Amino acid sequence: MKLLSLFSWLLAAGIGFPTVQAAEATRPNIVIIFADDLGYGDLGCYGHPTIRTPNLDRMAAEGMRFTEFYSAAEVCTPSRAALLTGRYPIRSGMCHDQFRVLRPRSLGQLPDNEITLAEALKAKGYATGCIGKWHLGVPQFNPGGHPRKHGFDFYFGLPHSNDMDPTPVAPKGAGKLAEQRAEWWNAPLYRDDQIIERPADQTTLTRRYTDEAVKFIQRNKTKPFFLYFPHTFPHTPLFASKDFAGKSPRGIYGDVVEELDASVGKVLDTLRAEKLAENTLVFFTSDNGPWLIMNQQGGSAGLLREGKGSTWEGGMRVPGIAWWPGKIKPTVQRTLACTMDLFTTSLKLAGADVPGDRPIDGLDIRPLLFGTGPVSREAYFYYRGTRLMAARSGDFKAHYMTQAAYGQPKHEEHTPPLLFNLRVDPSETHNVATNHSAVLGQIAQVVEKHKAALQPAPSQLVEVQPVAEKK
Ligand code: MG
Repeated sequence: MKLLSLFSWLLAAGIGFPTVQAAEATRPNIVIIFADDLGYGDLGCYGHPTIRTPNLDRMAAEGMRFTEFYSAAEVCTPSRAALLTGRYPIRSGMCHDQFRVLRPRSLGQLPDNEITLAEALKAKGYATGCIGKWHLGVPQFNPGGHPRKHGFDFYFGLPHSNDMDPTPVAPKGAGKLAEQRAEWWNAPLYRDDQIIERPADQTTLTRRYTDEAVKFIQRNKTKPFFLYFPHTFPHTPLFASKDFAGKSPRGIYGDVVEELDASVGKVLDTLRAEKLAENTLVFFTSDNGPWLIMNQQGGSAGLLREGKGSTWEGGMRVPGIAWWPGKIKPTVQRTLACTMDLFTTSLKLAGADVPGDRPIDGLDIRPLLFGTGPVSREAYFYYRGTRLMAARSGDFKAHYMTQAAYGQPKHEEHTPPLLFNLRVDPSETHNVATNHSAVLGQIAQVVEKHKAALQPAPSQLVEVQPVAEKK
């Protein structure tokens, strides 16, 4: 006791010697909450008139709300690969022009030679947990595709999308229907390496994910941790728990988003209660835009054009909210940033080296987050599968190719490219290519430089486990 008192006194008196606490303070906790198919217009703080999101609105009011935050792909698998590697998915092979995402019988995975954010932080002493939808490997058919093979100590969640293994009794296009039946879906729920429930009870998934996230934070509160929290929803089929079902004016989609909002509130409340808030960066975003073909079960991109699956703004510009009390001031941030930046920025915050043996596309956005200066970005590239469809430099975006998210079998090429000034025209309705040939020339140069240096990896999305023949 005496020793402890002396220690406390020395600390209180500000007599400095390196303490465990001081060392830990240099390594903040990192929490990334990743919604699935949540659109730019689906939150109260992004202008939705009827979906109630008080917790995310408060998070945005206390923190930094980005108006130009991008996922790195227009669909799930490549978007997740990019976030966790800091690289455009074409570099890891986690994209394909036809298949687009890993399927329930896929044998491919995030390649072992990719360095994930979890692996890099674990090497710096972080506890690492993944709670929710993985979609970077299907462990039933390829054990190497499991999150625990890619740097996560702990896993709880579904290996892929919740609609990916419909049962034989599911009607065609079941995910679009307003009424969902549990017996239509057969997704497995994992705890670490074991399937603990199949089919997963999807009505309780958000609540159980949240309980696991709270427990993960509580049991790791004495060391730095990285919690990657990719929710299953609002990807269809939509299910909400009893406390939320039937409550939102926006219908089941609103119920599901309001339950996600409550989940975010619980995570932030836990950080506050455990006195970790001032040493934790929390970032909330979405893997791609809203799934517009899902009728009223799909979300909204607000004023942006198109949605999930396309390289129009609505497919890739998503909500992005950063929160870190005492470090990030309440701000609306209008500078472009993206999910790949979370990789580089998190490593810098942890005092880890950014890999130098490969191209890393994410930038260190600490100057934006902390208001200490600008971040210089030459361009942002919009890929659909392996095709570079569009590029943005400054306010201007040039579309070299366009393709509707779904239902347009072939892309359309544009010569000259379509050009939009996104500051003036975020909805991409007025092509200004004829007035801005110099801008087109400058973007073309950046694109050529990017293409010349690019080394695409073989796609991981092709190979699947054959279905056994019935005898
Ligand atoms: Mg998605």
